[in-house]
Amino acid sequence: MAGIESASKQRKRVVVICGGIAGSLAAKLLQFDADVTLIDLKEYFEITWASLRSMVEPSVAERTVINHKNYFKKGHVVTSPSVNITETDVMTADGDVIGY
Ligand SMILES: Cc1cc2nc3c(=O)[nH]c(=O)nc-3n(C[C@H](O)[C@H](O)[C@H](O)COP(=O)(O)OP(=O)(O)OC[C@H]3O[C@@H](n4cnc5c(N)ncnc54)[C@H](O)[C@@H]3O)c2cc1C
Repeated sequence: MAGIESASKQRKRVVVICGGIAGSLAAKLLQFDADVTLIDLKEYFEITWASLRSMVEPSVAERTVINHKNYFKKGHVVTSPSVNITETDVMTADGDVIGY
C-alpha cells in the first residue's frame, strides 16, 4: 500500500503547449502515464491538411475538427494562449499558472 501511495505521489506533471498534431499526439500518448495539462488557443484539434478539401466538400469540414476532450479524457485542457514559461511553471494569458 505504501508503495502504491508513493508511486502515485511521484506521478510526473507534464504541460503540453499547443494542441496541433504534435501537441495533441503527445497529450494523447502521455495521459495515462502522467498528470497532463494541454494548453491550446482552441478547444479543438484541427486537421489542417484537410482544410483545402473542406472548402470544396463541406461535409468533410465537420470531421476535420476534433474536440480535445474526445481523445484526451484523462487530462486537463486549458483554453488560453500560453504567454510565459519558467523552469517550473507555464503561465497563460488568462492568469493560470500551471506547474510541471
Ligand atoms: C492547408 C494546409 C495543408 C497542409 N498539408 C500538409 C500535407 O499534405 N502534409 C504535411 O505533412 N503537412 C501539411 N500541412 C502542414 C501541417 O498542417 C503542419 O506541418 C502541422 O499541422 C504542424 O503541426 P504542429 O502541431 O507543429 O502545429 P499546428 O498544427 O500549427 O498547431 C499549433 C497549435 O498551437 C496552438 N497555439 C498557437 N499559439 C499558442 C499559444 N501561445 N498558446 C497555446 N497554444 C497556441 C494553436 O491553437 C494550434 O492548435 C498543411 C498545412 C495547411 C495549413
